[in-house]
Amino acid sequence: MYSNWVLGLFLVLICFFVLWYILPYVIRKIGEEYLRRRTRSLRAIVLTYDDGPSAELTPKILKLLDENDVKATFFMLGFRLNQSRNVALLVKEYCHEISSHSQSHLNAWKSLPWKAAKDLRMGFRTLGTLTDSDVFFRPPHGKLTLGTLIQVWLRRKRLGWWTIDSTDTHAVHMSAEKLIACVRREGGGVILMHDHNRDHPSNGNEFVLDITRQLLELARFEGFRVLTLGQLVDGS
Ligand SMILES: [Zn+2]
Repeated sequence: MYSNWVLGLFLVLICFFVLWYILPYVIRKIGEEYLRRRTRSLRAIVLTYDDGPSAELTPKILKLLDENDVKATFFMLGFRLNQSRNVALLVKEYCHEISSHSQSHLNAWKSLPWKAAKDLRMGFRTLGTLTDSDVFFRPPHGKLTLGTLIQVWLRRKRLGWWTIDSTDTHAVHMSAEKLIACVRREGGGVILMHDHNRDHPSNGNEFVLDITRQLLELARFEGFRVLTLGQLVDGS
């Protein structure tokens, strides 16, 4: 009798684990593969910037994008939007795509479900004070749970994954040449970058500007289209 009870509890825990973590993880992998195929078939590069906006780096990125007459996708954090509202307004004025990356970047795998849910809800609420045309949600740290998934679906938003991590937030990031080679090899890609300010020794800010510049050159000289994430998935 006791062993049946333990077995039942064990099965419930396994089911919970599969539904809460594994199913969303599989959905993420399917989403990434879909984006990989889209970028390859459209020969497209999507520039995405997370964790901003910042008064230091975002305006420099906007200037670069404007000089090259291209649009990017910015996944903003609610608390940074509140800190740099003027910069967020500038992103909007330049007609870039803006979407939510939560309020304070809580990792849904390491947070209590109701705290992660609140962070997501607050992020959408803050973004709603800037725009009502946001389409995507990019989970902080790329960590998705069933709770996040249900909230995103109920809000009729889409998950905004990436296919190539520029590693710009790593203490030791890959070289710009390696990143460009990766984009070339994959026939395009949704590039993960970050536009929050960094002042650590590896100087991430300059790296982000440098890879943005090199990706735009690659697009210009090798015939890649530069699209927003919305344009990529909607096929325009
Ligand atoms: Zn992030």
